[in-house]
Amino acid sequence: MCGIVGYIGSKRAYDILIQGLHRLEYRGYDSSGVAMISESGELNIYKSKGKVEALEHFAQNKDLSGAIGIAHTRWATHGEPNDINAHPHYSQSGRIALVHNGTIENYTVLKEALTQHGYSFVSQTDTEVAVQLIEYIMLTNNCSLFDAVAEATKRIVGAYAIAVVDRQNPNQIIAARQSSPLVIGVGEGEYFLASDATPIIEYTNKVVYLNDGEIAVINRGEELKVYDAKSAECSKIEITELQMSIEQLEKGGYPHFMLKEIFEQPRTLADCISGRISADGKSVVLSGVIEHKERFLNAGRIIIVACGTSWHAALIGKHLFEDYCRIPVVVEYASEFRYSNPVVGKNDILIALSQSGETADTLAALELAKAKGAFVFGICNVIGSSIPRATDSGCYIHVGPEIGVASTKAFTGQVTVLAMMSLLIGQMKGTVDQQTLATVASDIRRVPALIDDILGMHEQIEDLAKIFTYAHNFLYLGRGYNYPSALEGALKLKEISYIHAEGYPAAEMKHGTIALIDNDMPSVVIAIKDNVYDKTVNNIQQVKARGGKVVAIVTEGDTIVRDMADYVIEVPEISECLTPLLTAIPLQLLAYYIAVNKGRNVDQPRNLAKSVTVE
Ligand code: GLU
Repeated sequence: MCGIVGYIGSKRAYDILIQGLHRLEYRGYDSSGVAMISESGELNIYKSKGKVEALEHFAQNKDLSGAIGIAHTRWATHGEPNDINAHPHYSQSGRIALVHNGTIENYTVLKEALTQHGYSFVSQTDTEVAVQLIEYIMLTNNCSLFDAVAEATKRIVGAYAIAVVDRQNPNQIIAARQSSPLVIGVGEGEYFLASDATPIIEYTNKVVYLNDGEIAVINRGEELKVYDAKSAECSKIEITELQMSIEQLEKGGYPHFMLKEIFEQPRTLADCISGRISADGKSVVLSGVIEHKERFLNAGRIIIVACGTSWHAALIGKHLFEDYCRIPVVVEYASEFRYSNPVVGKNDILIALSQSGETADTLAALELAKAKGAFVFGICNVIGSSIPRATDSGCYIHVGPEIGVASTKAFTGQVTVLAMMSLLIGQMKGTVDQQTLATVASDIRRVPALIDDILGMHEQIEDLAKIFTYAHNFLYLGRGYNYPSALEGALKLKEISYIHAEGYPAAEMKHGTIALIDNDMPSVVIAIKDNVYDKTVNNIQQVKARGGKVVAIVTEGDTIVRDMADYVIEVPEISECLTPLLTAIPLQLLAYYIAVNKGRNVDQPRNLAKSVTVE
């Protein structure tokens, strides 16, 4: 959450900063702002509530000169989204400007102390405390900006990625990180700075990921220097080459990133599977698991921690691991796990599931389990992000950048990786027979083509969406492997259409929720041919008996449910454990088309942001 951009070089910084903000807008869009040191040596800050477009409008006809600058797109944590709380923030004298991603937990204490030293505050943010503190340290100690930032990081408690510029030194940006991400792009005589690599890729593919507790000194025309904030020792700089391409960051002719990402799934899943399942379906290769075979063979329990959509994928993972590996699995919300007093031991494996690899709660949960001796394994999408770097081992889902705030292709990528992992561990343990392995593994290879077929029905789903666009409430019902699918379907609808929707285990409905059913509340029921199919059919009857409308997702050729449901969407037959990969597609499309019909901002739904780096 919150996106930071920075530039120092010989080009006009403003253009690079604005383009970078557009790329990072998915991380927050409450406000945005830029700070540049102009050709005449002024430190100009322009900021505006709302999207980057509003900032561009505001900045027209202003002095946009300068080849150094920092910028920010905000997801507010402290203080309402308005012009004043927008970043960058000035220090009291107007000499320093700072942008921040994260939360400063001890900001009230620091604010009080600074107030006593004559500092006053214009915003309600925690961030303003950081910039005032840095200036205060700089002036009282008569020290450099670097020293002041290093000292400030010792006094600040919380999560931060910050970038700071000083009007008196137009050749330098100082950046520091603790728990929030920062990447530095190394160009020819220029440097870029950003919360993730997406604003950097069009200029250079050479990046340096800043680690927690590090401070970067980025001087124009000089070599990049990175220091450990506590010891002030110089860190070794590791340059990573980005594999991302610029096309992956564009909409490619689709009206929204979300639709593009839904339609990309045949390809992204092919990439996710590529090289991991043998052609005959007899073996699965995931080096992150194989290299730690003993840990998996001796695992007493698997704990999966995740948030949001990833948590739903984790629930599917529980079924997979229990079915094929016979290892007990618990699935926890990372935010609950981290503040509980969990019983975690050396034989436990903790799997952290996060698209961005930066989810603050998931990262903290894995650190907790690691400290208790568990083996920690990451399943993430963003290469080089914090979770993969903090784990003992892991597996990327390889679905490419996901820009739409509502997760789609990352969900199917996570489920696919969990399915491959469960087969591999099951094979290593001998808990899955060769025939089952070959069938399921071959079915995984069929998934991309089957999803392609389902996507071919998009017009049918678009028509269905028209019928239900004006419903105020929805119920999503499923059982077994598709109970998490129901949760995920409901979440997709809520987050982008703002329609209230509840995901529920179909059989639980009769214990209370059934009271809500009437003619105005449609139920989306996932009723594919699985081991509880007959039971789900009963649940559909119960809804119909109360006058409810039913949209059913069924297995191709099903006539029983077709006769009782109001509308059906067919998905092809596949191994039961993989059905969530297919049922996810119509659920994503239904939510998408309903949201579009309602005129919602599908890619940037209100109050949300991607990559949740705050608690
Ligand atoms: N705490 C800062 C603010 O509210 C930054 C928020 C964030 O990184 O999400 O302005």
